[in-house]
Amino acid sequence: MITSDEEERQRLGYHVTRHYTPSGDRKFYAAQAGDRSILNLSYDHSGKIVSINHGPIPSNRDEPISGFTLCTACNRWILGRNGVAEHLDQTNEMKKCWRRGTEENIIQNILLYTDTRHDVIKIDVPEMYDETGEPIDDILFTPFIKTLAQAIIEGIQISLNVDVDEVKYLLMVNPQDNNRSSIVLYETSEGGAGILESIVTRSIFHRIVSEALVILHEYEEKQCDRACYECLCNYYNQSDHDILDRKLVLPLLRDLLTADVRVVKDTSPTTVNHYEHLISQCESSLEKQVLTAIYQYGLPLPDSAQEIISENDE
Ligand SMILES: [Zn+2]
Ligand SMILES: [Zn+2]
Repeated sequence: MITSDEEERQRLGYHVTRHYTPSGDRKFYAAQAGDRSILNLSYDHSGKIVSINHGPIPSNRDEPISGFTLCTACNRWILGRNGVAEHLDQTNEMKKCWRRGTEENIIQNILLYTDTRHDVIKIDVPEMYDETGEPIDDILFTPFIKTLAQAIIEGIQISLNVDVDEVKYLLMVNPQDNNRSSIVLYETSEGGAGILESIVTRSIFHRIVSEALVILHEYEEKQCDRACYECLCNYYNQSDHDILDRKLVLPLLRDLLTADVRVVKDTSPTTVNHYEHLISQCESSLEKQVLTAIYQYGLPLPDSAQEIISENDE
């Protein structure tokens, strides 16, 4: 399962998107106010982050982004609008293909990608609500989730003394509901420095939330209307300045400040199915008990049940 984040157009003149594919080994947590989960988190030590480069951004923004072009005769990338014509033109002494490539050697619309493993925390918000506890209109979901992501990232940077480049986020569209998305925080260095793993520790979690509230002017007399360069705005999120609105997330952050952070069982569809499949294969009640306990404590499930392990299995 791969879902996409927002377009990221500015970087180096290429159109790059990032995507998260969870590993099979995640730990699940919930921040709870009373019995109510107000934030769901999953920690993934080796989440796959796929970066896809869709190609150079045309100088004329109305033109489509059409990937990269390769000549398989000489193994060269061909750039520019007239690149292919020049490359195939054997009278063009400067730019012609030295292996005499033809139309058939040209492959267009190539996407380049890398996939790397990272420490990842995925965050889901079950419901948005205002100061009186009333639900916020779904139409405000995008401003809400982008504001929350920015506030959390800044809370992490300040409370854990983390550089801007060390932890980043992408938004992952919910496959069951395309109007919703999750915040996916990831450590940019492969292997991870343990920053995100520590977030689910209650005291650190509260420090991050409390720092986010400070950043959002919660304790100041002078407050901006929705967002400013003192709180949520920066050079990199310019395209979101119009929609960022700190007031959308303040009620949630205030509740998170005193929320309990608990391990919960995995309720993602794939894990529930896997659990039910394993249970159906159990032959003894002891096996079922062990499996159920593993499941309820949110620990990783075994890959298979009733596997025969033989000493002579060469
Ligand atoms: Zn060529
Ligand atoms: Zn502000």
